[in-house]
Amino acid sequence: MKRINAEWDSPLFRDVQIQFEDTAKKISLDENVFHRLRVPDRTLIVTVPFRMDDGSVRVVPGYRVQHNDALGPCKGGIRYHEDVNLGEVAALAMLMTWKTALVGLPLGGAKGGVAIDPRPLTRQETQRLTRRYTAEILNFIGPETDIPAPDMGTSEQVMAWMMDTYSQLKGHSVPGVVTGKPVSLGGSLGRHDAPGRGVVYTIRDATDRLGWKLDDKVTVAIQGFGQVGGAAFKDIELLGCKVVAVSDVTGGLHNPKGLSYEKLKTFSDAHQGIKGYPDAEAITNEELLTLPCDILIPAATGGVITKENAPKLKCRMIAEGANGPTTSQGDKILNERGDVFVIPDVLANAGGVTVSYFEWVQDLQNFFWSETEINEKLRAIMSRAFHDVYTEAQTRKISMRTAALTLAIRKISAAMLVRGLFP
Ligand code: NAD
Repeated sequence: MKRINAEWDSPLFRDVQIQFEDTAKKISLDENVFHRLRVPDRTLIVTVPFRMDDGSVRVVPGYRVQHNDALGPCKGGIRYHEDVNLGEVAALAMLMTWKTALVGLPLGGAKGGVAIDPRPLTRQETQRLTRRYTAEILNFIGPETDIPAPDMGTSEQVMAWMMDTYSQLKGHSVPGVVTGKPVSLGGSLGRHDAPGRGVVYTIRDATDRLGWKLDDKVTVAIQGFGQVGGAAFKDIELLGCKVVAVSDVTGGLHNPKGLSYEKLKTFSDAHQGIKGYPDAEAITNEELLTLPCDILIPAATGGVITKENAPKLKCRMIAEGANGPTTSQGDKILNERGDVFVIPDVLANAGGVTVSYFEWVQDLQNFFWSETEINEKLRAIMSRAFHDVYTEAQTRKISMRTAALTLAIRKISAAMLVRGLFP
């Protein structure tokens, strides 16, 4: 097939494009819809200069990509990571389009990012970076057009600065411009833990269908100890399962007797990472992926399950907390193996965008819900989505990922066809 506009070409973009193309073929997608969905609607590249505390100026590239808005305003996180590039952001924006459609939200897909390692920055440097990046993308975002949220390397505080910068420049307070804000600023109760909590909801639904009991005989390995990995750890531990391995960017830990979330969090906060935690053996991130365990939760970066390690995985289930953790070649091998039940990213980690949607709705109506209401609504949406995907996969004898993409792409296609082509 002839390739167009290769500016966003990257391994991750090709992977999600291949997933889309394969699914589109299987469902005989309308040809015009196909050509529009395989590339993003709009991409913005900005240059972000900001002052360091020593007075020098750093200049870094920033991005915002809107993949598709057929179902409603675009929605997707902002990532601060040194590897961020247009291709990665475009790939993640496409995944957001599938995710919002799959869980039935009236939203499209977007993603943004800045190519910087945020860890060495001071609080003031991060604030100046965030405010300048927000100013650069100001005309691209808005509560009715494109609503950012946190992703890797960003936080509630970063969202507060984005909201404040946008509001100052517009001349009035606009809480609905970003989600994942602090609760004191119009954030939603339950938003912080929602992506990790949603991962565990889908694990509960999957184990129910497969007839597994979730108790202390079930072992779990989690890559990533941030917002998603941390919350998934907490919730799966509460169900009585044993988390035997965890990792972050500083390295991994293994303890076959089980690790404690509370102890590890206290250590990690004190030492800026989990490296050196005394009550476990040190392992690498790669070793964590191939450890014997029942459930593997990749919850850090993308492209970690590959054609090289997919044949060596010893888990029985993968719940994809991260976005795009499995390459298309890795996925092919898992499908051929057939002995690993995969809950794909667009389903497993959709709890984040779902509660972001709740936050946006609460901000627009200036009426806030209790955490119990949020969690009940989230549980209902995740369970319905799981049921739909599982039923589609069983009925048509296809993988859970293809089933999820099939359902999402059909909904978007229906909206695009009925809206028609402008002008
Ligand atoms: P975070 O910044 O809070 O945490 C990321 C974790 O991954 C940290 O523990 C970090 O040390 C670790 N990490 C970073 N690079 C790594 C590497 N190369 N190897 C191993 N570990 C590494 O980010 P997060 O919000 O938890 O996001 C994690 C993943 O979940 C991302 O793929 C993100 O796109 C996805 N996600 C996030 C949300 C959300 O709302 N935050 C929602 C859905 C999906």
